[in-house]
Amino acid sequence: MVRKDARIWVEHPIHVWEGATVTSDYRSGVLIVKIDQTGEIRQIKITDETKLPPLRNPSLLIGQNDLTSLSYLHEPAVLYNLKVRFCDRNAIYTYCGIVLVAINPYYDLPIYGDETIMAYRGQSMGDLDPHIFAVSEEAYTKLERERRDQSIIVSGESGAGKTVSAKYAMRYFAAVGGNSSETQVERKVLASSPIMEAIGNAKTTRNDNSSRFGKFIEIHFDQQYRISGASMRTYLLEKSRVVYQSPDERNYHIFYQLCAAAHYMPELKLDHQDSFHYLNQGGCPNIDGVDDLKAFNETKAALSTLGVSESEQHQMFTVLAAILHLGNVHLASEPDADDQDSDGAYIDVEDEHLKTVCSLLGISKPELSRWLTHRRIASAHEVIVSRMDVRKAEFARDALAKRLYGELFAWLVQAVNRALDTGHAKRHFIGVLDIYGFETFEINSFEQFCINYANEKLQQQFNSHVFKLEQDEYIKEEISWKMIDFYDNQPCINLIEDRLGVLALLDEECRVPQGSDRGFVAKLHDKCAKYPHFLKPRFGDAAFIIKHFADNVEYQCGGFLEKNRDTVLEEQLESIRSGSACRLVRVMLADPEQTSSSATLPPPSRRRTTPSAPLASLTQPGRRASGQKQTVGAQFRASLSALMGTLSATTPHYVRCIKPNDTKQPFQFDAARAVHQLRACGVLETIRISSAGFPSRWLYQDFFQRYRLLCRYKDIDRANIKKTCSIILEKHVKDPDKYQFGATKIFFRAGQVAYLEKVRADLQ
Ligand code: ADP
Ligand code: MG
Repeated sequence: MVRKDARIWVEHPIHVWEGATVTSDYRSGVLIVKIDQTGEIRQIKITDETKLPPLRNPSLLIGQNDLTSLSYLHEPAVLYNLKVRFCDRNAIYTYCGIVLVAINPYYDLPIYGDETIMAYRGQSMGDLDPHIFAVSEEAYTKLERERRDQSIIVSGESGAGKTVSAKYAMRYFAAVGGNSSETQVERKVLASSPIMEAIGNAKTTRNDNSSRFGKFIEIHFDQQYRISGASMRTYLLEKSRVVYQSPDERNYHIFYQLCAAAHYMPELKLDHQDSFHYLNQGGCPNIDGVDDLKAFNETKAALSTLGVSESEQHQMFTVLAAILHLGNVHLASEPDADDQDSDGAYIDVEDEHLKTVCSLLGISKPELSRWLTHRRIASAHEVIVSRMDVRKAEFARDALAKRLYGELFAWLVQAVNRALDTGHAKRHFIGVLDIYGFETFEINSFEQFCINYANEKLQQQFNSHVFKLEQDEYIKEEISWKMIDFYDNQPCINLIEDRLGVLALLDEECRVPQGSDRGFVAKLHDKCAKYPHFLKPRFGDAAFIIKHFADNVEYQCGGFLEKNRDTVLEEQLESIRSGSACRLVRVMLADPEQTSSSATLPPPSRRRTTPSAPLASLTQPGRRASGQKQTVGAQFRASLSALMGTLSATTPHYVRCIKPNDTKQPFQFDAARAVHQLRACGVLETIRISSAGFPSRWLYQDFFQRYRLLCRYKDIDRANIKKTCSIILEKHVKDPDKYQFGATKIFFRAGQVAYLEKVRADLQ
């Protein structure tokens, strides 16, 4: 029961929670409190006595390094502790049990230098301040000690600091596992970042350098735990950005870098970035503090470090320039033509951009022109060629541009992998996963569905790992405990993965001739209503709702089929593939089914013929055994399943990045935004699991040291500390369920340590 003077949290519309003190003992239905900040007296109506306001922690515990050491573990406590550390102490890192919570400071802190790396080297997690280096050190030591592969799983929303954290982790491994040999593989590992950022990052409204793909990098170590190589897998590149950007956003950095360097490569016929349709739609040509020409030179230098030759680089730039010119090819209707379809698409014979595309790729102009405006339609008896209307032709042209970019991206990922493959056998690895966190927007589409599906899988793996750790600790300490009820999201994953689940129904609708987005949703509503995680929206029939672990998300079905199919007109592809004089284009577009293995050899200058790492890159069109192209959903599912397999054979370490405000202000903490993210990345769920068990643990000796004044002097038995502890506890904690004696530690339920602290303070 809440008594007078109890320090509690009450809800606040902006700060989410604010501190208050109870002014008189709780009596039925009403609690009278005084708000600490303002002195205001307020009456709080209590309708459910099991839901009294949360209690505040004793001030001794404020600002703890590890949230799970708090006595009262709940949302306001977590939030307040993070805020005090972040705003008052500029401490951006805090542990929450095995999770490192990292809050983006939007400020360059002097905590990432080599001397800091050396300070963390060889230290245990608890010994120094929480840090990404501490987590990296823990992974590296465990690799050595347990000879088990490790992984660092970084998640968070866009702009929260995932990529920066992943880079610091890699920097740490490069420093401590560095190799003195001339191969300098760690230099190459670090050089892969600017390359991947040039082709896979873009300015969005949330982050000036937003990664538009997920990646898993494995750093390989030899028997002496020195870096011996690396490999990378990528997930779901956002290809739509190549042809369209929302207001205030940009296309991939590399395009702007290329335009900035246009005058060095006159043969590419590039121009100012604003003259290209694929670059100017966001109306946002520049990024504060970024010099695209300088960045271009850095990208080139990094490519050279990775052994991509000048000629290969030039071919890459040629393909990119061709994509830009393709976007400027003017498709117009010619109403007065003799042709029957007056809105059919035509390209002017003199179209400069079409000429440039053809000369850059070395392909026949009449051929490309024809297939940009016509398509083949096969019926039962014959194949007819018919002119497309302008809208369809533009759509097909954009699909072609996206495919070319996707293939180039995949080719480059392979090139990076080849460079990072030193040919040494990998003995062990540490994987770093930098993947988009749970997302929910005003309008959610196929992309959000895939991202949230991935997060559902990762969260399941996280929950079972945390749960297993708890269980192991209880067993090791030989304490009796009940299964804590932890949230298993298998039912939600079933909804997505089942034989008649969302992915299967989507694929089915993609196969039927008259399939449509609406048809897909109708099927879902029919077949999935029985799943507890599926909901039909109250209005309309163009959406469905999935109850994810973090939130309910309503997905709008528009575009699901198209995005899942990801098709491009085979005629267009063929006209480029077969005719191109550019070797890179032929390699990129080579049909893996029809060519010998040597023709699929990515960069010509590399010596090996087969990739050493399994490339689950979704940017490559996958094929099923039947030769039929796999859908994006099916490929994503397969690569997620491979990822989960890899991760489950490692010891995972978790980093949850939090974006503290939406205006990129240094050390500004928006509590409402933070709570939302803490829930979305499962930190609050971890807290819940912890507080259902015995979250506070003290070694007997430590407990004795702090609380011995709670018993009479004659009761102290230095030869039997455990017994003395038991005397103290029996005297002060009447309910024996509140603690348990383990082999080396005492386990407490939430709130007990706070209580003992209060007793101790009263005595002094
Ligand atoms: P994400 O990958 O989660 O979308 P990034 O890692 O790209 O986000 O971070 C976005 C921006 O936030 C960075 O460009 C940088 O300006 C800032 N930032 C992130 N982490 C840190 C950090 N630890 N210290 C300083 N600034 C940071
Ligand atoms: Mg990123």
